[in-house]
Amino acid sequence: MEFGERELKRECKGPDVVELQTRLAGFRGTVPDGDFGPASERQVMNFQRDYMKMAVPSGVVDRATMQAIDKFADDFPLDFKALKCPCKKCGGYGQGQFKGRYFAGRPRIEAYHRYEYPGIHRMLLWALRAVFLYLPEHEFVITSGYRCSVDNTNNNRTSTNHHGKAVDIDIVMKPREDKRADMLKCDAARGRIVETGNAQIGWSAPNCKALEPSNIAPTWVHYDVRCYEPKFLKDEAFCTSLKELNNRRPIAF
Ligand SMILES: [Zn+2]
Repeated sequence: MEFGERELKRECKGPDVVELQTRLAGFRGTVPDGDFGPASERQVMNFQRDYMKMAVPSGVVDRATMQAIDKFADDFPLDFKALKCPCKKCGGYGQGQFKGRYFAGRPRIEAYHRYEYPGIHRMLLWALRAVFLYLPEHEFVITSGYRCSVDNTNNNRTSTNHHGKAVDIDIVMKPREDKRADMLKCDAARGRIVETGNAQIGWSAPNCKALEPSNIAPTWVHYDVRCYEPKFLKDEAFCTSLKELNNRRPIAF
């Protein structure tokens, strides 16, 4: 079933459930496994409560909820000019190099996977929209999206997080705010993202969205999906445009 062809609720399974889980990734999201269980129901109820302002969330993705998800996307359009790689060699989203190749002498885990994924992970970007929804008191700017291996070499970086698996955002400071105020705001923002998005600080838990701790990211917020198993990091989960991110479908039921 394509997303939009049927109402979605507990016990539904299929690619349209993967799409739903992707779009609601920032509402205490879980893995996009295509199985609408209790955690997915909670995602839907949180979206209905916090975005749709429903007094009694149903947990059922009916026509009104699908329309609200489209509106949520329109409320938070993401700037792909700010997300693309700045290297001027790769076209914006890497060159697909190094699939299945890892740094020498390192474990074969995602943190050391050198693959330039073909875009930025859609679930991460939908989760970012929820960050903007849940922290309306802040003005955010995207400071780093994609950074390919060429850009990393140019800047002496070894991390492959930004090969499509991570986005960095900054909170715009108000006049006369200093670095300490910035650090406190970023810490508080991370706390809210853990609570509202079911993210973790650090990378200990598998299949959980991750935030860099404050000792690595004192004055910005780094959000990534590098703890996901390979089956949730397939090429089709990545996008290079707002159109691909939104993947808008007619609602036909
Ligand atoms: Zn590049």
